[in-house]
Amino acid sequence: GQCVAVCPTGALTVKSEVDKVWEAIQDPGKVVVVQVAPAVRVAIGEEFGLLPGEKATGQIVAALRKLGFDRVFDTLFTADMTTIEEGMELLGRLQNGGKLPLFTSCCPAWVKYTEQFHADLLDNLSTCRSPQQMFGSLVKKYYAREIGKNPAEVVCVSVMPCTGKKFEARRPEFTTGGVPDVDFVLTTVELAQMIKEAGIVFNELEPEVFDNPLGMGSGAAVIYGASGGVMESVVRFISAHLSPGDVSRVDFYPVRGMLGIKEAEFTIGGQTLRLAVVNGLANAEKLINRIKSGEAFYHAVEVMACPGGCLGGGGQPYPNSTASRLGRMKGLYALDRAEQLHRPQDNIFVTRALERWFGGPANANTHQALHTRYYPRRRISGKPVEVNGRREEHPV
Ligand code: SF4
Repeated sequence: GQCVAVCPTGALTVKSEVDKVWEAIQDPGKVVVVQVAPAVRVAIGEEFGLLPGEKATGQIVAALRKLGFDRVFDTLFTADMTTIEEGMELLGRLQNGGKLPLFTSCCPAWVKYTEQFHADLLDNLSTCRSPQQMFGSLVKKYYAREIGKNPAEVVCVSVMPCTGKKFEARRPEFTTGGVPDVDFVLTTVELAQMIKEAGIVFNELEPEVFDNPLGMGSGAAVIYGASGGVMESVVRFISAHLSPGDVSRVDFYPVRGMLGIKEAEFTIGGQTLRLAVVNGLANAEKLINRIKSGEAFYHAVEVMACPGGCLGGGGQPYPNSTASRLGRMKGLYALDRAEQLHRPQDNIFVTRALERWFGGPANANTHQALHTRYYPRRRISGKPVEVNGRREEHPV
């Protein structure tokens, strides 16, 4: 019933990690870093009497500092990085005849669904890790070194609208030498619980700003929290490549909104892009059938498992109703409008980090740290599966 619809990975059975996060904060030997996903800032306020969509970014930052987190960073930073890496991947496939459509890969429920039910499409999935996992990789392997720590001394906590993100953080490919890139994942509701436990009066907090360098994101990163947001961000990024000099257009309305399946066609610099945006795995199944039968063709497809995208995730406050989701969606697009930057490539913190740590975007170094590989996955139990000569490699 409801549980399956809200949490397609079954991660609702994963226990809360609130106690472990408290322990890490109290451990003087650890530097505890936290990242906050886009959809959290327009929803957590509902736990404290605000309306869905009312911005609470500054209060979240202030609350996290009061709780004792050492560095308060923003998943927007790696959302911009994801857009750049995924945009370059799409450009490459368009120009070199690579596998199309390119499917987005930042929703762990969708990735797992593809592994289990459509393993013949694994090469269509973007190889980009999700913003959560890019963030964990940066913090453990690069940021830690800059602050003179080894990865085990840094604890990376995420605040996510999503229960599936707990499952994603546990995937063995996102662990190096026994140290996970992301140690603990809190849902929006679990963070609200911690704030209440600590006796912090959320609504009276003076807004504060994220720490840098990993605290800066563009408007294109904010809209990752809404269905269509990843696609729109990628189009904003690649349009500057397809039509250099023409930077006027940043709003691509046809990919926005709550519809289960959205289709859009944009012609930029002589290249026509056929795009689809899906929320809900049942809708994804319908679209895949149309693609496989040859009835539909797209260059890129965004899939999010939750209604309306991550703003409707299983870790968001109740009621997670259509009205709440609409309010949160409006809040995210209002945040994008209020930002000065609307394209990921204008976020100099991100472009500088790519330069400093990897020698630029979309190369062997970023592939090592920010991308991943996919394998077929059995559905429930039984023998390991093999599809198109590719064997399951995940422990179940
Ligand atoms: Fe998580 Fe977002 Fe996917 Fe829902 S749509 S499962 S919240 S990543």
